[in-house]
Amino acid sequence: MKCPVCGETESKVIDSRPTDSEIRRRRECVSCGRRFTTYEVHEKVPLIVIKKNGTKQFFDRSKILNGLDKACYKRSMITPEDMDRIITEIEVDLRNAFQTEVHTSEIGRRVLEKLRDIDEVSYVRYASVYRNFNDIESFMQELQSMKKESK
Ligand SMILES: [Zn+2]
Repeated sequence: MKCPVCGETESKVIDSRPTDSEIRRRRECVSCGRRFTTYEVHEKVPLIVIKKNGTKQFFDRSKILNGLDKACYKRSMITPEDMDRIITEIEVDLRNAFQTEVHTSEIGRRVLEKLRDIDEVSYVRYASVYRNFNDIESFMQELQSMKKESK
């Protein structure tokens, strides 16, 4: 950070305040004493999603929304805003945990967790797609454990 007055590159930080998207730093030039403010944008680390077959791709909201949309088809208790919020919460949680890679199964698990609190039918639909139940037996087991948990 160059001093805007004398061009000195050394400055000391006298105050530092993070906001949602940037860090505001109050600096003081070590040479002339002039104070100035700099803004540093958080580096947005890419979030990588690892698919079942091992291929990687960037975190893509629309992909998650797609699955959610199908699961919530004609379920009026889940609004598009709810879906949007679910995805945002998941993305924020992952980023806050400094996670840079996440498996699709982990995303699915998190979506399910949130769906369960809103609408059981959508939950079951989403689970049936994403969990890839091999047979009706394992599907029933899932329903049973879900019933138990909600009691
Ligand atoms: Zn200076």
